[in-house]
Amino acid sequence: MNKTITKSQIEGAAREAYSHAAGLSGGANADYIPFLANINPRLFGLSVMLPDGTSFNFGDTDYSFGIESISKVPTAILAMRQHTPAGVLNEIGADATGLPFNSIFAILLENDHPSTPLVNAGAISACSMIDPKGDADAKWNAITQNITDLCGSAPVLIDELYKSESATNFNNRAITWLLKNYNRIYDDPDMSLDLYTRQCSLGITSSQLAVMAATIASGGVNPLTGKQAFEPAIAPKITTLIATVGFYQHSGDWLYTSGIPAKSGVGGGVLGVLPGVLGIAAFAPPLDSAGNSVKAQAAVREFMQILGLGIMNGDRVTVTD
Ligand code: GLN
Repeated sequence: MNKTITKSQIEGAAREAYSHAAGLSGGANADYIPFLANINPRLFGLSVMLPDGTSFNFGDTDYSFGIESISKVPTAILAMRQHTPAGVLNEIGADATGLPFNSIFAILLENDHPSTPLVNAGAISACSMIDPKGDADAKWNAITQNITDLCGSAPVLIDELYKSESATNFNNRAITWLLKNYNRIYDDPDMSLDLYTRQCSLGITSSQLAVMAATIASGGVNPLTGKQAFEPAIAPKITTLIATVGFYQHSGDWLYTSGIPAKSGVGGGVLGVLPGVLGIAAFAPPLDSAGNSVKAQAAVREFMQILGLGIMNGDRVTVTD
């Protein structure tokens, strides 16, 4: 069916969803990374970006927070740019784990694959895949430049977060060496883990993440810069990964109730992609038990419900002035 929505309907839905979610309590900041426990839990922002560059921002959308697991999305894109989607499928996999993001059990269950680049194991493996191999600085430049291409502006490392995370990432160290045992680390293991930890510690705003989301929704064309950030064929692949595992063990419940593929991070961010229509991002630190932001989820879900949108609806959506 054809469905037409106006930009002012989109803006109104975002405003309403933002103000309802702002009243929610519940959840708690991540505290297994000490730095995150001390972020102001009242911060909350919601950003929407359309493929033509129109954006709507409510609340703390210029606050730079830890990108955390949302960094898995751009690095998976980079791995696909460098090694093709088939290469990523072969070396990492594209399967939902149905388990928490940091699961070691998931690796043991499927030791022929780290499952998907969007959980810790697959993301560390993706960092190891990035070229040029053996050169940490050049790999880091490739990772951050790719994020800049997707956002239209650069992320900034939160040094304190990087230190906090590096000092406490014992579980991720175990994951890295277990993967090495299964020949799923394609570069130096310590360097690959360090790149993963550093990319998780990048500061990003919800308005930047909405640009990244809209770039994916637009088949790789960044709405701010007008540049093709990646080949169009990568867009459905990364959106599939986001849909299947973006909310970890809650991914099915999330897609069922919200209708939008979305990726979360323990910094409190959520990035949502509605292919061909829009990108959305929200940020609020308190998380539910699976590590997904309570307010960000509620805002994105309500936004979709108000507009009657959903990736599975089968609608051809046109946005007009
Ligand atoms: N850096 C975090 C970790 O490795 C990211 C987790 C997340 O955002 N879900 O545990």
